[in-house]
Amino acid sequence: MSETKKCTKCGEVKAFIEFSPNKAGKFGVSTRCKKCLSNCASNRRIADIDKFLARERNYRSKNSEFCIARTAMWRDKNRQEANKKRALYRLEHLAIELERRRKWILENREKVNKGSKRQRANITDGYAAAKLGLPLSECPPELIELKREQLLVHRMTKQLTNLLKEQVHGTE
Ligand SMILES: [Zn+2]
Repeated sequence: MSETKKCTKCGEVKAFIEFSPNKAGKFGVSTRCKKCLSNCASNRRIADIDKFLARERNYRSKNSEFCIARTAMWRDKNRQEANKKRALYRLEHLAIELERRRKWILENREKVNKGSKRQRANITDGYAAAKLGLPLSECPPELIELKREQLLVHRMTKQLTNLLKEQVHGTE
């Protein structure tokens, strides 16, 4: 019995080991060599991909409006996703920024105190009394001081809120 066989595809004479076992074959092996069979399989895969792409193109051309809408929907959904991610990033960044400012305030107490002293001086007794809606002569100093504190807290709250608003909406 011959140990070699001619491939029906490439025509090369090859050892049996070069052929896949196949019970239906004359010598118990395929008529085509392994290399030809594998080429054939990959050719089929390529042909399948081409067929798939052609079908996809055909579908798109026949359903162009639907496809455009679907793409727009996809883009919109992903934009929402992107916006969500950006908002989350900003929130994380905001926490870091606030922590940085808090540290700076702790490390620069003198500067901060000077600043708040200056702000305090800006609120005169007369101004505080006017804000209370009373003549200065009728206002006890404790009430003036209390009103000054209230105005300072109010200003600081406004400043901080504006800062936060800038950070949240700033990059939009
Ligand atoms: Zn072959």
